Amino acid sequence: MHPSTIPILGELTPGTTGRRLIKLPGAALANDEPRPVISIAGAKPGPVLFVNAGVHGGEYPPVEAVIRLGKTLDPKKISGTVILMPVLNLPAFRTRTPFVCPIDNVNPNRVFPGDPRGSYSEQMTHACINEFVVHADAYVDLHGGDIPEALVPFVICRAGNDEVAKKSKAIAMAFGLPYVLTVSKPVQPSKGHRAGVGGLSSYAAAADKGTPAILAEAGGAGQMQEEAVSLLVNGVVNVMRHLGMIEDAKFESHIANPETNSKAKPKKTARSAVATTVLTKFDWLYTKSTGVWYPKVAQGDAVSEGEQIGTVGDLFGDTLEEIASPVNGVVLFLTISPSVLENGLLMGIGVE
Ligand SMILES: [Zn+2]
Repeated sequence: MHPSTIPILGELTPGTTGRRLIKLPGAALANDEPRPVISIAGAKPGPVLFVNAGVHGGEYPPVEAVIRLGKTLDPKKISGTVILMPVLNLPAFRTRTPFVCPIDNVNPNRVFPGDPRGSYSEQMTHACINEFVVHADAYVDLHGGDIPEALVPFVICRAGNDEVAKKSKAIAMAFGLPYVLTVSKPVQPSKGHRAGVGGLSSYAAAADKGTPAILAEAGGAGQMQEEAVSLLVNGVVNVMRHLGMIEDAKFESHIANPETNSKAKPKKTARSAVATTVLTKFDWLYTKSTGVWYPKVAQGDAVSEGEQIGTVGDLFGDTLEEIASPVNGVVLFLTISPSVLENGLLMGIGVE
């Protein structure tokens, strides 16, 4: 098979951009609204890069970044092929559902690489991996903070000394965000889901299949921050440059802010200007109590072990719990909505 072939998309003509509405395989997905997929088939041969957003349907800057890449990447100036899917978890996007897919209440990013006989999310992630990721030379899954979350921009990839892990880390560094997190285990066990799923996140499942992969995060809080969109667009372009798909001199002509999408000017991100800190541990903090969450830190703050970083109170105003940082690190993401449930996620702290 020719390496640039993505069977589900059919023939791609070099030097052209294609727009398709794709029905993914899987019995649970049979009645789905088809998903938009954009193919930018370069005039010259080169690697295949698959980029998607919307694994979580309430993360909007990543979705906009993929839309914008589809409108601005010029196939005549590209070596290789870029495949773009703006929203994988379309049921969540349509219903503004954070974290999960509303059809089965499963977090899709805990059930990669999926199961063709599993629930809706498992069939969806299985299709994502098998129809797209395994045919690509590299995979970028774009995320952000979900509707009740804020975060500092960061990239995650799998830790390790094997070739795929090394290539993934090089792609993560090339993306150009302030933090790169290399992790060897799933950052969150797939608890709360049916037994035996043992699911992974997108980037880890892709790496298992031999495709170097990263998950990049920017923006959040259910909004469309222009700065986050620009960071993600530029990050993908940086990855394309790293993979030899575009040449430096052509960068400016490749990416323009389509006037239709925003009045805000994108912030220029000089790729050499970002000093990336590599983190190797991701500590997720949960509340024991149902109540009202009062964080004392913001995303991006440095925290030290034992430092009180927030409290959870009840609806009489009494404190139920004081939350202390278990580590020295940096707050990468933070729940910013006050209402929290027992065992609810409060924040993620990255550790060097
Ligand atoms: Zn996400």
